[in-house]
Amino acid sequence: MKPTIPERNRDLRRYVRWHRFLRLAGYLLWLGIFLLGALSYNNAHQTYPPERLMIGWRLLLWMLIGAASGFFLFRIGQMLTDRSFEGTIVRTRLSRGYTSSKDPGSMSYDFRLHLRLLVRTADGKKRRIRLEQKPGFYIYYYEGSRICHYAGLPYPISNPENHPMPPSREGQTKLPDDLSGGYLCAACGSLNGSLAGGCSDCRHSLIDPKDIWGE
Ligand SMILES: [Zn+2]
Repeated sequence: MKPTIPERNRDLRRYVRWHRFLRLAGYLLWLGIFLLGALSYNNAHQTYPPERLMIGWRLLLWMLIGAASGFFLFRIGQMLTDRSFEGTIVRTRLSRGYTSSKDPGSMSYDFRLHLRLLVRTADGKKRRIRLEQKPGFYIYYYEGSRICHYAGLPYPISNPENHPMPPSREGQTKLPDDLSGGYLCAACGSLNGSLAGGCSDCRHSLIDPKDIWGE
């Protein structure tokens, strides 16, 4: 069965709708800029013969370039294929990446770690999730732990009852005290000590694993 965001996390449903809308709106704006560019080119070169204007197949090709690049840029394909699912983490992997620094004064780059999860769902399918690595994830997303991913929410929820410990932590069956009962924010990936009051970072409500897996 496809999981849906719990009833009490309505703000997260809004979050998903809003981000889908933004991406779609951004994509349409991108296409509009391409069309406007072609039209203003034609307008500025009215004396040109028709074969040098942006009409017919040239306009079509130009718009196709815009559609393809925007599709990639706004990750429309990812948005269309993103599905909610529940499954077990089969493999975790770290990869690194660089993004330009948010600090406008510096010309440097931010170093980022990305976590790649390979998940096997109940019906045997394999799914891949890529998310930005945050503190505590090394123990939150663990090979063998069950997770629930909601389409449009970057960070899947992990079932705390199913956290097996690494072999070096023998005797332990749950998360260490500082993280057990920790609630992950599905929107920003922060770990919070309690459900009440929502995420201390972004104020979104936190999903209670009990709403997914029961008591
Ligand atoms: Zn948050």
